[in-house]
Amino acid sequence: MKHKNIAIFVPHAGCPYQCAFCDQHTITSQTELPDGGDVERICREAFAQIDDLSETEIAFFGGSFTAIPRAYMLELLDAAKPFAAQCKGLRISTRPDCISREVLDILRSYHVTAIELGAQSLDDAVLLANDRGHTAADVFAASALIREYGFELGLQIMPGLYGADAVSDQNTAEAVCGIRPDTVRIYPVVILQGTRLGELYTAGIYRPIPFAEMVQRVAEWCVLYRSHGIRIIKVGLHASEFVGSKALGGYYHPAFRELCAAYGFRAMIEAGITASHREKRQITVFVHPTCISQAVGQKCSNIRYFHEKYGISLTVVGDEAISPSAVRIAEESCKGGNDDDRK
Ligand code: SF4
Repeated sequence: MKHKNIAIFVPHAGCPYQCAFCDQHTITSQTELPDGGDVERICREAFAQIDDLSETEIAFFGGSFTAIPRAYMLELLDAAKPFAAQCKGLRISTRPDCISREVLDILRSYHVTAIELGAQSLDDAVLLANDRGHTAADVFAASALIREYGFELGLQIMPGLYGADAVSDQNTAEAVCGIRPDTVRIYPVVILQGTRLGELYTAGIYRPIPFAEMVQRVAEWCVLYRSHGIRIIKVGLHASEFVGSKALGGYYHPAFRELCAAYGFRAMIEAGITASHREKRQITVFVHPTCISQAVGQKCSNIRYFHEKYGISLTVVGDEAISPSAVRIAEESCKGGNDDDRK
């Protein structure tokens, strides 16, 4: 059964600061805040279309949920509560400096099961440069408290921020592994019109690293997170014409995760090239059938890469026995597998 979120956006609600990169109205394509009646209607309509609710969560995203005025927060929770009792539960996202025992007691009584913290970076200088208004210590403390209460913990990370570099982003990724959240969302920064980051970018003060380099780094962090048992539930902002039209720079791509996956397969294949492959100018790679398009790359980018760089013809074959995100490289180039699976 596929996991499903019923997303209810509360853009910028409760945010005590205006973070340099953020425009939730653009990201969520929504300017109005929902009231309790809206929450009830959204849940009712969504529930009517879902047969099995066991993997469904109602998710409040787009603001600092635990910092919104208490009466409004309770109005939203009251409206969602009867629905949350019939499905997997409620998921909320908030800031690390807006978590306390009092807040967690309230959330627990409303069937909240998962809390995501917008951590963005674990480098205090980067947090300061981007007007976050909290420190890395807040992330560590809030994470520990959320864990103590037994909620599922998620961290949202934003590599490539103003003031970040390869070292600080790498340190953040490693520190996240030390926290061991259940999930991460990786949102490489997208520079939006109307934000302070947009101004810095337009003035030439903020110069993000090249797109391809960010793809490579994120691909490496995905491997790192997986090796620590951390589930990656999102890579890159969701595809939206609105975001696309407001993006000045940074790393907006409707299939950013696919680009990272393709890079990951390319790196694994490249590491396995032998003298025999070079001599025969051919390499056959077995991957799980669901990963064939990622191994081939968008618009056959990996096929082209090996041809142009090594003069090697890459053949990708589906094999159920290979676990997703892994490859098996034929010792010598030979035909194998089901021709129907070939690309
Ligand atoms: S990043 Fe989070 S805390 Fe900052 S303005 Fe956006 S929604 Fe609010």
